[in-house]
Amino acid sequence: MLVTTYFLLKLEVRIINIQLFLMIALSSIEKISDAIGFNAFGVSRVTLLHNKKEILNHWLSENMNGDMGYMARNVDKRLNPALLVEGAKSVVSVLVSYYAGSPSIATNSPKISRYAISADYHATIRQMLWQMLDMLRQQFGPITGRAFVDSAPVLERAWAQKASLGWIGKNGMLINPNLGSYTFIGQLIVDVDIEPSTAEQPNRCGTCTRCIDACPAGAIIKPGVIDARKCISYLTIEKRTPLTDKEKSSLKGWCFGCDICQEVCPWNSELTVSSDLKIKPKTSITRLSPDDIRGLTSHQFDGIFKDTPVSRAGYDQFMLNCKGE
Ligand code: SF4
Ligand code: SF4
Repeated sequence: MLVTTYFLLKLEVRIINIQLFLMIALSSIEKISDAIGFNAFGVSRVTLLHNKKEILNHWLSENMNGDMGYMARNVDKRLNPALLVEGAKSVVSVLVSYYAGSPSIATNSPKISRYAISADYHATIRQMLWQMLDMLRQQFGPITGRAFVDSAPVLERAWAQKASLGWIGKNGMLINPNLGSYTFIGQLIVDVDIEPSTAEQPNRCGTCTRCIDACPAGAIIKPGVIDARKCISYLTIEKRTPLTDKEKSSLKGWCFGCDICQEVCPWNSELTVSSDLKIKPKTSITRLSPDDIRGLTSHQFDGIFKDTPVSRAGYDQFMLNCKGE
């Protein structure tokens, strides 16, 4: 009996040791990422985002988040992923391109931001991340993890930058040298060690100031810092009170979102459309003419935009934006 207990204890110690020293190779994540169809992935160790704390707190203290009260909540969780997943050790960041050429709805007034002309991306990418977690579990045993897509408690661009997926441009967007900035970012935070990606990429904006010069609202107050209260994207989607005359005149034909600071970015000028786009524009949206949009009834709006980010604005706000009212 004593001998059996001794061997069981020894076996348990060995299993614990295996778990303690398990480091999943980056190549394993690459195979999984490719199989699922992410356009890019990277891994970083969980750390406190000290360098973002001051920037975020200053941005919030200046009320640059406007009516987006949720941005001021869970700041601790945003800076420390271990508060989101107990024992968190690694953050896997993934990119999914939504670049689909230049549909006229994204370039001719009234305009809709490129990311919003497809069915809602959150569910699709979250599903892909869960699939990644399942595949990791099948290969490496029990793993605790959570998937995040564009969700408030995670500084997704900062984590993508740490995972060597690109740099944060002067327009505040993550820029990947191959995919540009028209990408959705997702994160899987897990309680196992994964080999981290190589060092962060350098910022390659250089002396370019195209995005700052092109922003019609003067919302890029300094490189990488956007005053949301001035930004057309905020005004057409997030602002909860009626737009002032000055705000209305700054919309420049956008009725949902704004892509100007991305359209002018040289890193987006030679993109090709992926043959395996996971997030595709809805033809029911891209075939709308400017007159179709201006004449939409509430019923038509619901039918065409349900399941898309545009539904967040609601019919009344969307139509006011489209008419610049
Ligand atoms: S999204 Fe439009 S308004 Fe906002 S910072 Fe970019 S160019 Fe300016
Ligand atoms: S437009 Fe120029 S400055 Fe702005 S993000 Fe792109 S490369 Fe950087």
